[in-house]
Formats: sequence, C-alpha cells, structure tokens
Amino acid sequence: MILMQGKGVSAGVVSGPLYFFRRSQSEVTRYTVKDTEAERARFSRAQEQSVSQLKMLAEQCRAESGDDAAMLFDTHAMFVEDEDYVDSVLTTLEEEHCNAEYAVQQAGEQFAAMFAAMDDAYMQAREADIRDVTRRILNNLTGNVDGGIDSDVPVILAADDLAPSETLQLDKSKILGFITQKGSGNSHTAILARTLGIPAICGLGDALKASYEGRTAYIDGESGKVCLEADALTLQSFQSKQRGQQQQKELMETMKGQEDVTLDGRKIRLYCNIGSPEDVTAVLANDARGIGLFRSEFLYLAASDYPSEEEQFEAYKSVAAAMKEQPVIIRTLDIGADKQVDYFHLQKEENPAMGVRAIRISLNRPEVFRTQLRAIYRASAYGRVAIMFPMITSVWEVKECRRACKSVMLELSKEGIPYNPETEIGIMIETPASVFMAPELAKQVDFFSVGTNDLTQYTLACDRQCNDLGKFYDPHHPAVLRALKMAADAAHEAGIWIGICGELAADLSMLPTFLAIGIDELSVSPAAVLPLRAAIRKSTAGECTLKMLED
Ligand code: PEP
Ligand code: MG
Repeated sequence: MILMQGKGVSAGVVSGPLYFFRRSQSEVTRYTVKDTEAERARFSRAQEQSVSQLKMLAEQCRAESGDDAAMLFDTHAMFVEDEDYVDSVLTTLEEEHCNAEYAVQQAGEQFAAMFAAMDDAYMQAREADIRDVTRRILNNLTGNVDGGIDSDVPVILAADDLAPSETLQLDKSKILGFITQKGSGNSHTAILARTLGIPAICGLGDALKASYEGRTAYIDGESGKVCLEADALTLQSFQSKQRGQQQQKELMETMKGQEDVTLDGRKIRLYCNIGSPEDVTAVLANDARGIGLFRSEFLYLAASDYPSEEEQFEAYKSVAAAMKEQPVIIRTLDIGADKQVDYFHLQKEENPAMGVRAIRISLNRPEVFRTQLRAIYRASAYGRVAIMFPMITSVWEVKECRRACKSVMLELSKEGIPYNPETEIGIMIETPASVFMAPELAKQVDFFSVGTNDLTQYTLACDRQCNDLGKFYDPHHPAVLRALKMAADAAHEAGIWIGICGELAADLSMLPTFLAIGIDELSVSPAAVLPLRAAIRKSTAGECTLKMLED
C-alpha cells in the first residue's frame, strides 16, 4: 500500500485511475532526418488535422456563442495555412534536414517574436494566436492531447501544479478528483475545484510520482490522504467515509427550500461564488439565493483573446436571467498574480500579488474596463445585477470607477440600449487599506464584500499561493477578524450591508463569530450552501460572542 499525505482543499472521497496531466509545451528536440519528404508529409498531415479541428471548433462556437467567438477559430485556421508561416517551416526542413516538430517550433517562435515587436497593440496581441496555432500543430505532430484527458473512463487527475487557465480547459466530466504536487488551498485552482464540487488535494510533493499513472487511487479531499493499493482496513475506512458522504448529501437535501434564518430570527443572505455561467446549474441545484461573487476574470482566462462586449454580455445576461429575481454580483476583472492572461502582456513583476492587478489594470486600461462595464450594464436589464470592484485601497479609485460607470450609462442611454440605472455598486474589502478607509469608502458604495483570501494575505504578509507558509497563513488570525469587525462596523454605521465572499465564509466553525460581528451575507461554493444553511438554522445569533477576536 502507498499512502501519501497532502493538503485537502476540496472535500469528498473518490476512487479511480490516476492520470497525469500532459502539458503540450513539452520541450521539442531537434534531430536530423534523412527523408525530408517524409517530414514534409508529416507536417502537411498535421496542418490538415489542425485546420479541420479549428473548423469544427468554429462551428461549435458559432452554434453556442455566435459569430464573434467563432471568428477566433476561423482566424487560427487561416494562420495554419498562412503562406509565410508555411514557407518558413518548409525552408527549415529543406535547409536543416531536421524533424517537422523543430521546424514548426522555429517558425512559431519567429512569427510570435515578429508580432510581439509590432507597435500596434492589436497586432501585438496576435503573438498569443501564433503560439496557440503552433502548439496545435505540434500536438498533432506528436499525438499529444493538449492538456486533455485521453481516457474512456473518468480519472483522478494528477499534476505537478495546475494553472487556473489549464483547469478551466479540462473536460470536467472526465475528472473525479485533482491531486497535485504543489499548490495551495487558496489558489484559484483549488477554488475552482470547490466551485465544481470536485475533491482535490494539493501539496503532495515528490511522493506523487509519474510512475503511478494508471494505478487505482482513493483520495480524501478533506483529510488530504491519497492511497494506492489500499489494504483491507484502509479500504474499509475510505468506503465508510464515502457512504457517510452519501448520507450527509441526503440529509442536506432536506435543507432545500428552507429559509436562511437563525433560531432568533436573524436572516442571512446565503449566496454562491461562481467562475462561469455553467456554474449556475450547481448554484440552482444547491438552492442558493443569489450569486455573491461572479469571478468575471475566468471568462478572460478561458479565452485566447480579449472577450468582446457581446461575448461578455451574453455570459452575464445568461447568469442574470437564470437567477431570475435573485441578485448576481459581478466582480470586474481581477487578473494578475496567479491569474495570468497571455494576451494582456502584463509585465513580469517581482511581487505580482502587490503589482498591477485587479482594479489597477481596469483603471490603467480604460478601454478594457469600458467594454466590461458596458456588457455588465447591458445585462442589468435582464435580472438583478450588481457590480463589485476588487482590490480597492483608496477612495479616489472608487470615485474613478463610479465615473466610468456613469459614462457607460450615458453612452447606453444615448444609444437607446436598456440597462438598470439603479444597479448597485459595491467593493471588495481585501486590503488593510480598505479596512482603515472603510468609513469613507462606505459612503461611496451600496455594499462591502470581504475577500478573506486576500485580506489574510495582505494583513499577515503571507503569500496565499505558498503552501510552505502552513499555519502562518491563518484566516482565523485575530488581526484578520478584527479587520472584519472594523469593516462591518463602518458598513453598518453608513447603513450598507456587508458580506464575505472569501473561502472563510464556508468555515462552519466561524459562523458564530460572523453572527456576532453582524455579517449580513455569506457567499460560498455551491457545495457549501446547504451545510451552511443547516448551521445557520441551528444558531442563535444573540448568543454568539466575539471571543475569537481576542488572541
Ligand atoms: C478573496 O480574495 O477572498 C476573494 C474572494 O477573491 P479572489 O480569491 O478571487 O482573489
Ligand atoms: Mg481577492
């Protein structure tokens, strides 16, 4: 029996074969070939394959999201057959008598560098397209499945680490669970796993070996245990936990339709965090009463170019309409730090978590901001949409955001496009500065939502991505909880509501503290809604104390 211990970051017990994530950018090696003609033929087959895949993707996209989205794949198909690009590949083959992979990679690098050096921002952004197209041809040459899962049965996906964009592109129907060597519970990949309700374990280190591929594993996303070739006793304990999980699920079913109210009548808004319109299915299935955080940046992460106003509008509208009268809080773009998007061409930074990220990017790039705000305001005509700005530190930032909103509303009015002028505007409280400035900030907005993931990071000076920090990264630290209380007092003083949308919101042990502080809303992953409802309904708010804030 092989037992590995990691950090459980998304609860649930599952078993299945291990499958290692394959990154397609694996090193291309150059070797000399005698038969150049055969390499030409290989390239030509990979080219044809790429074009037909791209045409299929374009058609699929056209049917699902319209012409704008499909255009991207049409353009990629054109790149594959671009005369200069193909010439460059064939010349390298002829002159260097090398393998097709090497010739394609060389052409890709050359063209990507050429686009990156152009003055025009639009042309610069084509660098990412060239890289995408090159990777596709390389995959077709090598038979590599691009991060995909080449298995007929669902698997437990193992990897060194997974970036949020990689996780997004995976076919989730084939994934029973995630296990990784690195990573942290606060990473966006872990958050995604929780949103999808997929058990996940990170930080397994070198104990997780690629040679385990194909072997049956049991994983427990709560305790962080992974077991291969379990002995009878271990198997029994995993299986009994699995049965318990099923019973708990059934018990939670009885919470559906119940009010989110404490025994002494305190009502809590119980909402969900989502990353894409598809997540709404889980929100509705778990009977949440709204969306407290729509991480809009996942739309950008899943795309290979700036999502257009129309694409974003369709995504926001579909969520707003599906949630009917229930609130949908759309957070504006929050990229940077661990959420890197190639086509933004963000500068490499020494301290990305403290660099140009989130609202700073939106304020630095008014056109990107305007496009997103237009899409959100247009969607506001189809449901109860609210807007939330991330990483706020200063009052001037909020004023600038409000000015941008005003200007977008003015444009839409002039164009006769419907929107809700009463759309609520809120901010995330996730920096110490926003806590200290909370009394002033509260006068500018309709609500606060506390991002405890970042608030812990910035208050305790602990990188949320770093698994080694262990107990030093502690969202229960009294400094974080006092910050929460300061923000809540300021919000209530100004007559606005305050919620929590960081991962701490789902921590049942914290509920009495939240009730004592007077938190009005909790926004959690869909799977956490019903257990939280059950806990709220068993609590008496008036008896909760602020003990946790003391030491
Ligand atoms: C947070 O920081 O707590 C939060 C909810 O935002 P994100 O995790 O997306 O940074
Ligand atoms: Mg945050």
